[in-house]
Amino acid sequence: MRLTKDPREEMFKDNTLTKFIFDNTNIKGQVVTLCSYFRDVISINSYSHDVSKLLGEFLAAVCLLNANLKYDGRLILHAQRARGLSSIMAECTSKNNIRGIVRGDFSMLSDQIDFYQIFKKGTLRLTMEPEYGDRYQGIVPICEKTLSRCLEYYFEQSEQLKTKIKLAGNMQTAAGILLQKMPEQTSNDKCSQVWREKSILLETLRAEEQINLPHDDQLTSLFSNDDIRILSVENPNFWCSCSRERFLKALHELNLKEPPSLFQEGDSISVNCEFCDKNYEFHKSEFKNTHN
Ligand SMILES: [Zn+2]
Repeated sequence: MRLTKDPREEMFKDNTLTKFIFDNTNIKGQVVTLCSYFRDVISINSYSHDVSKLLGEFLAAVCLLNANLKYDGRLILHAQRARGLSSIMAECTSKNNIRGIVRGDFSMLSDQIDFYQIFKKGTLRLTMEPEYGDRYQGIVPICEKTLSRCLEYYFEQSEQLKTKIKLAGNMQTAAGILLQKMPEQTSNDKCSQVWREKSILLETLRAEEQINLPHDDQLTSLFSNDDIRILSVENPNFWCSCSRERFLKALHELNLKEPPSLFQEGDSISVNCEFCDKNYEFHKSEFKNTHN
């Protein structure tokens, strides 16, 4: 295999997103590995192994899908169970800032209980939220056993884009790889054959390899007969969009809506962001014209 890359670019595997294209084909892809920032996300809420693994799949998936978008804004992947408020959410902005959260009870998760069983009566949504302009929400049918298969189905059916996704994770690392066949002007048997070959090879990638190997090694071991051009190497960050102003606005609305007052216990309240654990303090005097 010939791997064409800028020699100045080291393909670090900690929090890295590598975009590539197969030379002389209409197939492109991304590989992502999230390590230290993923550990930051899961340590804030002390998730169990199975919950961390699933949240890792959401975070890796949203990084991979976001890499194809061409606007400034953010992409949100959100799954909600039927009845109750249990949900998993991950988002990635156009600057590769990621965050994610699990709400509610997922104690039933195990190797035997798969994604389909957890969410089959719930919803999976993919929301594109540009900084300027209208948001777009796609409903992803929960018709397959895994998150990756559901997303593949969605892209093939709704977007007419042949897509292959493999996700893997543990308590240390979240990883993923995506291949996508770009639209052709005319139907072409050779292109379809090349796509089938790459898809079959991708299936042979094992979770341990995804978690442990640098991106160039993953690509070399999978596609040893292909010429791959590295387009870019980027570094996703764990970054939260919370702010004092946003909390103040939300608390102000809550205070108006839900008496009794937020300040029954004293003149100030303290809140922590559930995504990043940052603490914000508010004094009663900041809440003017309410029933305090
Ligand atoms: Zn925050």
